[in-house]
Amino acid sequence: MRVTADREVCVGAGLCAMTAPGVFDQDDDGVVTVLTADPGDEARAGAREAGMLCPSGAVHVTE
Ligand code: SF4
Repeated sequence: MRVTADREVCVGAGLCAMTAPGVFDQDDDGVVTVLTADPGDEARAGAREAGMLCPSGAVHVTE
């Protein structure tokens, strides 16, 4: 799995960090940061869900 997030299009909604807190965080401005681009088995479902929930389409998850 490969997780990326486009900080240019992130609107700071925070759904990613709430859904997969081990994979995503937000900086002081609320903009997404990726904590791990290759999450382990236990975090992959959350990463996929974050990709579906992100309202700006900033989160990209490839298997
Ligand atoms: S869910 Fe999307 S818009 Fe919200 S903080 Fe995460 S990447 Fe940004």
